[in-house]
Amino acid sequence: MSPSPLFYQAGPALPEVSHAKGVYLWDETGKQYLDGCSGAIACNLGHGRDDIREAMLAQLDRVAFTYRTQFENAPAVALGQALVDLTEGELEKVFFVSSGSEAVESALKLARQYFVAKGEPQRRHFVSLRPSYHGSTLGALGVTGYEPLEAPFADIVNASLKVPGPDFYRHAGAGDAHHVEHVLSDTRAAIETAGPETIIAFVLEPVGGASTGARMLDRHYLDGIRALCDEFGCLLILDEVLTGIGRTGAWFAYQHYGVMPDLLATAKGLGAGYYPVGAVLSRADIVDTVMASGGFQHGHTYAGNPLACATGLAVIEVMQRENVLDNVAARGHELKDGLQALKARFPWVGDVRGLGLLWGVELVTDATTKIPFPAEQNRFARITALAKEEGLLIYPRRTLNGVAGDHFLVTPPLTIRADDIAELLARLERAMY
Ligand code: PMP
Repeated sequence: MSPSPLFYQAGPALPEVSHAKGVYLWDETGKQYLDGCSGAIACNLGHGRDDIREAMLAQLDRVAFTYRTQFENAPAVALGQALVDLTEGELEKVFFVSSGSEAVESALKLARQYFVAKGEPQRRHFVSLRPSYHGSTLGALGVTGYEPLEAPFADIVNASLKVPGPDFYRHAGAGDAHHVEHVLSDTRAAIETAGPETIIAFVLEPVGGASTGARMLDRHYLDGIRALCDEFGCLLILDEVLTGIGRTGAWFAYQHYGVMPDLLATAKGLGAGYYPVGAVLSRADIVDTVMASGGFQHGHTYAGNPLACATGLAVIEVMQRENVLDNVAARGHELKDGLQALKARFPWVGDVRGLGLLWGVELVTDATTKIPFPAEQNRFARITALAKEEGLLIYPRRTLNGVAGDHFLVTPPLTIRADDIAELLARLERAMY
């Protein structure tokens, strides 16, 4: 193979993919891989689906691209309505984008323009968690709490307030009310120091993704954050880029907790790996206020194009027709039990946490002390490489300066069958020896 002109991350040369079907991919040598992480937690319905292909081809034959300022397009209107329906009408307005970063970026800008329109331009800070990941564009990076990504831009992205979220693994048992009270009172103190009148919104992932290894928030904590938002007059933005569209077993993760956001960003699973499509869902009055004061000063060329929206629509239709959320619940239990069994067997598996088919496994030097592996040991890279040798793809991240240990996500397609869950666990176990 001649040297590739592409650059991405330092690392070993990658195998060249040949084709994929269902939860499996094959490389050019014929080696088979079980997609234990849906690519980048995107291919939620598996690969090579005929029904999605048919829907995309039908739209391609009609029209692939129109620009949102020139034509209304039926797939966009239908997908917008489908998304509103999935929130049971609680979030009534939809703005389309093409990626998770764009969805977060758009939510941040919509929130800011809302307060400018309301005559509160002094609101210019967001509050987010450390660790967290909200995207790679400068605005989304500005609310991201992940040092390796922030470092080169620390002095040029807007200073947001980054506060610790609850950590039920290191500091408490799951759902520990005392721990939550403590974290919430520290958060309140940080906001009071910064000035509550300067805050635009909280930005949170209801279940952390790659940056935290599926660290869970809980009902009590989210209730507390919602109450702070209401008290200080700021908004709650949920980043459901990863958790949205069924990943946790509900259409949106907030529905498990019953805590209503004002704005919600979603992407990954909406296009299910077949086409990039993302969206911001909003309370109607926020959008009405912005539109009444000159409109939303924001947009992306490919946003909401007919092919993207026809794909998103086909994804939701397949999920409804096949009751995919029921499969997430059933397979999620099997995956959880299997991962817990691995935790019982391997002392360096510190924590197994998650919801639905979003599971994080944290690796530590010792399960009792919970001390993370030194960063230079690259445990996350080693386990990923060993899993790949066994024909299993998982989604890793490295240690965050002792905030969390190395971890990886296990997030297979939501349509995975029971025998493939068993195969996934068998391959993971072999990679751990
Ligand atoms: N937010 C979250 C929670 C994510 O997991 C991601 C992607 N990993 C993003 C935002 C950014 O999405 P994208 O890579 O599509 O820009």
